[in-house]
Amino acid sequence: ADLRGLLLSRIRDVPDYPQPGVVFKDITPLLADPAAFGALTGALAELCVRHRADKVVGLEARGFILAAPAAARAGLGFVPVRKAGKLPGVTHRQAYELEYGTAEIEVLGDAFVPGERVLVIDDVLATGGTAEASLELIRRAGAEVAGLAVLMELGFLGGRARLAPALDGAPLEAL
Ligand code: 5GP
Repeated sequence: ADLRGLLLSRIRDVPDYPQPGVVFKDITPLLADPAAFGALTGALAELCVRHRADKVVGLEARGFILAAPAAARAGLGFVPVRKAGKLPGVTHRQAYELEYGTAEIEVLGDAFVPGERVLVIDDVLATGGTAEASLELIRRAGAEVAGLAVLMELGFLGGRARLAPALDGAPLEAL
């Protein structure tokens, strides 16, 4: 019944990873636990239905692990948004700022039917930079953003406020 408590109990804090001063939220205990993983993918599939998604996007790499089973459970197709250079053929590309330097993400040019509604899924929302770039990418690829769903939001980093313009009224769900 208490989904939030179950999920939180299976996320491990790893101090000083990947660098000193950072506490990394490790979701591998959750993925390894069938009750927690099943409850999570079930809850994500419900969000697909609630927000009337036609398709589900997962963000590389941990987003794939959550988005693919959620899409299958909701009876929807899955689309990967990948780091640049990994997808075959014509792509749309979006650059974004990292703490040091920039990164680029891509989606295949024919991933979406124009106007279809896409729910974007990732594991953790931190600063919001990755999610913001993915929302811009998906719109440029011709789809409509049905919402963004994450397992965990690190509220103290302010990602929700940063994402407000890119969400443009679409819901941000943090389980
Ligand atoms: P942002 O772009 O919001 O700063 O960072 C979010 C991205 O970095 C997500 O794709 C997420 O997988 C990864 N990330 C950042 N911090 C953490 C963390 O503490 N735990 C996990 N599992 N992923 C993180």
